[in-house]
Amino acid sequence: MVKVNKDACIGCGSCAAITDEKVFDIGDDGLAYVKDDFNYEEEKENIENAIDGCPTSAIYEE
Ligand code: SF4
Repeated sequence: MVKVNKDACIGCGSCAAITDEKVFDIGDDGLAYVKDDFNYEEEKENIENAIDGCPTSAIYEE
């Protein structure tokens, strides 16, 4: 399961852009959150790219 550490996120929006807002989006708090209605297998590569592209390493999987 992919998650965002909100304590580390700076709300840059990169993860939302990389996943075309299908996996991540920016919430009312200005920080990224993980959506709950995406196809993990279809988005796996985009998720990896988002993890690699996050400037604060706020995205992780567990
Ligand atoms: S790429 Fe990282 S810092 Fe930027 S909005 Fe996403 S989780 Fe936050």
